[in-house]
Amino acid sequence: MTSDRTRARMIEGLRAKGVKSERVLSVMATIPRHVFVEEALEARAYELDKALPIGFGQTISTPEIVAIMTELVCAPFEKEAPKKVLEIGTGCGYQTAVLAKLAREVVSVERIAPLMDKARRTLRDLRFFNIIFKHADGHFGYTSGAPYDAILMAAAASHVPPELKQQLAVGGRMVLPVVNSKTDEGQKLYVIDRTEDGFIEKTVHDVRFVPLVSGIV
Ligand code: SAH
Repeated sequence: MTSDRTRARMIEGLRAKGVKSERVLSVMATIPRHVFVEEALEARAYELDKALPIGFGQTISTPEIVAIMTELVCAPFEKEAPKKVLEIGTGCGYQTAVLAKLAREVVSVERIAPLMDKARRTLRDLRFFNIIFKHADGHFGYTSGAPYDAILMAAAASHVPPELKQQLAVGGRMVLPVVNSKTDEGQKLYVIDRTEDGFIEKTVHDVRFVPLVSGIV
């Protein structure tokens, strides 16, 4: 169930759903996703569209959304990997691992301390040493590490946090889910590029994430 073969099947499924980046697919083929979830759920860790519970009312992002967001956020860096990446919402740390294989350094911010500590242990056991964990409210990013080539947020905000835009490098890209302000329901995935002249924003997919919550616990 948790073998290389199961993982290879997940990769073929992602390809069939339109994920094209060989870099992203090959990284996802190497990371044992089942070690990020509870033992009882291990067998389901490779289902493409299942957001499994990770405790504290939070869920692990589906393989499909991890692949889509990673492909989007890394697209401007086809030639050279992004140097510094900021992730908001560490959760179980699976998305963090994918980013850490693609970038030189990842700063990952999580508001729930026990979740962050568990992710830190999992990623240490997997011998990731290029991740900095921050227990903080991700609305404000992490200024000391800025600017970031890529910013990826895994919880839905009511608006694009201006602090995050400021921490994006020129030439960098941010991908995040934002709640539709007109209907107050439904979420869109935003892609924001920073150029010399300012920001270019577009929306790409309808998505469903847990909300971005203020404060830390
Ligand atoms: N990529 C993670 C997603 C987990 S769900 C995974 O696959 O496991 C989203 C995460 O965002 C949760 O862990 C939640 O606690 C965290 N989160 C929500 N609001 C936040 C905030 N303001 N700052 C930092 N993390 C936040």
